[in-house]
Amino acid sequence: MEIDAWLRKGGMVVTASDRAARSIAAAFHRARLAEGLAAWPAPNVLDWKSFVRSAWEERSKGGGDGRLLLNPVQEQSLWAVLAGADQQPATLLEGPRHRLAGLAMEAHALLCSHAPRSLRPSARRDWQQDAAAFSGWLTAFDERCQAENLLSPARLPLELITILERPLAGTGQPERPPLLLAGFDRILPVQRSLFDAWGAWHEATPPKAARAFFYEAPDAQAELAACALWCNRRLSADPSARLLVVTQDASARRGQIERAFLRHSGHATSSLFEFSLGIPLSQVALPQSAYLLLRWLSGSLAEHEVDWLLTTGHATGSPQESAALQGHMRELRRRGLERTQWTLNAFLNEMAAAGMLPGTWVNRMTEAQRLLAEFAYRPQSPLDWAEMAARLLQTAGWPGVRPLSSAEFQAARRWQQAVETSGSLGFDGRRVRWEEFLSILARMLEETLFVPESQDAPIKIAGPAESAGLAANAAWFLGADEDAWPAGGATHPLLPPEIQREAGMPHASPQLDWDLAHAITTRLLTSAAEVYFSYARQNEGTEARPSRVIAQLAGPPQALPPELTAPASLPPLTIQFDDFSRIPFPAGAAEGGSSVLSHQSQCPFKAFATARLAAQSWEPAEAGLTASQRGQLLHAVLHAVWAGPPDGLRSRGELLELKDRGPFVAVHVRRVLREEIRPGLRARLPRRYLELEERRLIRLVTEWLDFEATRIDFEVTGTEVARTITLAGLSLKLRLDRIDRLNDDSLLVIDYKSGLVSPKSWEMPRPDDVQLPLYAGFALGGVLGGLVFARVRPGDLAFAGRVGNAKATLLADLSGSASLVKKPLTAELLMDWREHIEQLARDFLAGRAEVDPREYPKTCERCGLQTLCRVEENRGRLEAEDGDGGEETGDE
Ligand code: SF4
Repeated sequence: MEIDAWLRKGGMVVTASDRAARSIAAAFHRARLAEGLAAWPAPNVLDWKSFVRSAWEERSKGGGDGRLLLNPVQEQSLWAVLAGADQQPATLLEGPRHRLAGLAMEAHALLCSHAPRSLRPSARRDWQQDAAAFSGWLTAFDERCQAENLLSPARLPLELITILERPLAGTGQPERPPLLLAGFDRILPVQRSLFDAWGAWHEATPPKAARAFFYEAPDAQAELAACALWCNRRLSADPSARLLVVTQDASARRGQIERAFLRHSGHATSSLFEFSLGIPLSQVALPQSAYLLLRWLSGSLAEHEVDWLLTTGHATGSPQESAALQGHMRELRRRGLERTQWTLNAFLNEMAAAGMLPGTWVNRMTEAQRLLAEFAYRPQSPLDWAEMAARLLQTAGWPGVRPLSSAEFQAARRWQQAVETSGSLGFDGRRVRWEEFLSILARMLEETLFVPESQDAPIKIAGPAESAGLAANAAWFLGADEDAWPAGGATHPLLPPEIQREAGMPHASPQLDWDLAHAITTRLLTSAAEVYFSYARQNEGTEARPSRVIAQLAGPPQALPPELTAPASLPPLTIQFDDFSRIPFPAGAAEGGSSVLSHQSQCPFKAFATARLAAQSWEPAEAGLTASQRGQLLHAVLHAVWAGPPDGLRSRGELLELKDRGPFVAVHVRRVLREEIRPGLRARLPRRYLELEERRLIRLVTEWLDFEATRIDFEVTGTEVARTITLAGLSLKLRLDRIDRLNDDSLLVIDYKSGLVSPKSWEMPRPDDVQLPLYAGFALGGVLGGLVFARVRPGDLAFAGRVGNAKATLLADLSGSASLVKKPLTAELLMDWREHIEQLARDFLAGRAEVDPREYPKTCERCGLQTLCRVEENRGRLEAEDGDGGEETGDE
């Protein structure tokens, strides 16, 4: 009421933050609307920084002050130059140099606000070590500012005090109105001096302290849930209420808070609440897409960045272009042409011959690239680069054709400001290369926080300091435990500790932390009619105690009341029903071979998604060969070795005759590497890497042949054996690594594996993998002697599987406890497999496609289709259904 009355009389209000100024102005306008007015004078509310700046500009004009007021980026770049001038190891790299410059800038601001006497070089004569280094930079900074007519914003209050202290009479300056201060938790020394120099001022009388409650929750989740439930109850009782939630570390806990509010508020949208603290511009899609586009014109992007960029719609001219480019990416992967890094030229050239790229997009990108190349042959002023960035983006078609939402429009404006601010680094006449301008821009995007304009959501979520000046009907303070409140912190590393203590700088002593926490808590108690505090007794596995500051002001904590305790499981938001609708698969051929039925067994939806929707998970590119490429090379070598005449072997007898297996294997390995690694990939891999891969393969395959030489006599009847089978009307193309004829004339089905595998994956009632049982049961055409995985792994060479009589037909020296002996292949097992496989085929044809993984979450971890099947939504049910099973990995 006091502030409103003051503003109505035309008085001036100064607030601690711009957020508080906006909040007071909004409350003033709401009050006038409530009075039924149609128009009224704008309230005179300024935050501290704007107040100082406008007062200085107004009063320094008369003195003809032509100094350039530095913006934060300009000032930090000056500090970076000074910090780097010593050529200390810590400042040689750009990143650390700019972090140090940021610290120096902070130290300078602290001196200006708390200890202006130390700005005089003579007062810093005794400073030691890091403080002495900073003192040197500060002297150089002052000299540079003086020589080049520059002014740091941190000095503005001091400059203004000097002006204000001049006698008013005869200066032509207007009378200074009395000031009313609002939302200041603590008035800093420089602020007090300035207000005193200004004239009359006083702080707004705090309203009566609120009713306070202090709750103890068992853990952080229960605490958040209680707060969300409380908000929900308050808003249900009074939809026009305004609530304030105060939390420390709001940016780190943002996701957690959002989830809890969406879960317990009963609303499916986030328009119910808004955060007062923003997120870095680099995490906002629109600016990030602009930055990646600019980077791509002259450098490379990681594959996932290209993928993301093409899906945003901001780098393409139409949905068709976007779809075509995404198809292009998929095709590159299908052809095994993935890369960890893509330059724009490599991307354009790789598939240009196939005519897969939309011509309009190619034209825009190449035109933007040409523009840049014309301009980038020499360093330019950051100002020129800023203009060029806008032209390049326009030429490339950014931000796309889709109309921007309000938040996107604001983000685009912030991007423009970030580019202009980066351009303002041209203030000292410097010239930089394009790459340097891009790294300035990247820093700007990291350091600039983006907060969309307030939509006046009923719940505001703010940090303790940012909550200053925010008024609400009720407030809830989260995380009020002893370790977190008072908030601790370290003293500044570039200032002498005794100076920090004397001047009362933040965190200089525990008492200062306590005083500040006390002041903020007291202010919070007057910012709403009811204020709730809470803390979690268990925090990250440790026992926490209640904050003493809060307990002193709000009393000892109480247990959460039942109405603020979340039920163990929430009533479902969706109605569950069994969906028996199925779309049959027309009888005939299905793509994918045996994997169709393996997937059907693992999870019916997986078979549906992969065989019918052609869904695929995406393996990210790797710097060397991927695990699957290395596996393919191993298969190719073993295929060549056992391919029979003229160059390969066909039996154990031929293997034993081979005197020197190493050179024999080497010939095959070299040929396979020559033929199987395509030229583009070969060109990217270092020669030494390929040599090592060659040596590894020669050693591994030679050791495998040595192991096979210990087998009982056998003959290889075929490798890479292809068959087409039809099961219940479903036609599948199968391929098998190898079939051996054993000494009893039976056939052994072999699958090479370079990973850890086990026949447990064939176990009924729901096998994980049916490839070998399928081949053995439906495609063999002979007497089956066994089916095995051939484990070809360095230091782990073995057969694992089911064999009729392994000791008599495979390996004579097997012990009686070996799995191959203990668990032989039986006719019953074959029958069970047959029946199950036929049922799988019938299920697939019938369109059975439930989301039903055989072992959750293990099956899903290897699947990669989670975003399509949305299995996470069924997590609770699946976890309850599935137990943990052991894994059998050893055999022979
Ligand atoms: S992620 Fe799990 S539930 Fe989803 S399709 Fe794959 S196996 Fe099935």
